[in-house]
Amino acid sequence: MEFTATDLKGYFKVVIDMIEEQKDYLCELDRKIGDGDHGVTMSIGWQAVNDILDDDLKDEDDCGKISMKVGKTFLNAVGSSVGPLYATGLMRGAKTVKKKTILNDQDLVNYWLAFTQGVKERGQAKKGDKTMMDTFEPFAETLKPKFDETHEFVPSFDHALNFAKNGMESTKELVSQKGRSSRLGERSVGFQDPGATSAYLILVTFLNYAKSNSAQVS
Ligand code: ADP
Ligand code: MG
Repeated sequence: MEFTATDLKGYFKVVIDMIEEQKDYLCELDRKIGDGDHGVTMSIGWQAVNDILDDDLKDEDDCGKISMKVGKTFLNAVGSSVGPLYATGLMRGAKTVKKKTILNDQDLVNYWLAFTQGVKERGQAKKGDKTMMDTFEPFAETLKPKFDETHEFVPSFDHALNFAKNGMESTKELVSQKGRSSRLGERSVGFQDPGATSAYLILVTFLNYAKSNSAQVS
């Protein structure tokens, strides 16, 4: 697969639209175990990204600079706990695609592995804590071996997404150990984690976008 800087900007644009569509749903999830703002915080961050894509990044063709600027913009715009988490993911991913205008399958795997590792290191949450890491960790753990075996990005990402989805859904049964919802203790059981949900949506949006918008190179 060939994924260009234009594709990367196009992907972020699709995320912006997706977050607007899912804003109420993400807030509703956060109302059950948090303060009800997850959809709003994500929307604020991605709308700031929208402005930067149309302005500073309009002619940028370095995937590293694009993802770095998107991460920094998100960080500056968002006050809640997801600000530094997603921003670190975007900035760590950026480092793996520095000075690249066209990304191949290996670059895309490196990007997403660094992204999820960045979130993990920043938040210090692990699988089972009822956070976005319940989506990202099973995703990363299955993406790498599948790609090492097949060397094909789309089927490997697709495969890893099944594990990400199971991880997201598993948060319903978990007691929160991190972030605002951990204050609820046992009362957090029965509700899906909003951050695990937005993390899954961001990943699934990437797969759908990569499948439909980038040039397939055999
Ligand atoms: P806040 O909790 O500040 O209101 P949001 O509502 O925007 O922020 O985001 C809440 C989400 O952040 C949670 O659902 C959880 O997935 C994620 N989260 C919180 N703390 C951590 C952490 N330490 N590591 C990973 N994810 C976290
Ligand atoms: Mg919240």
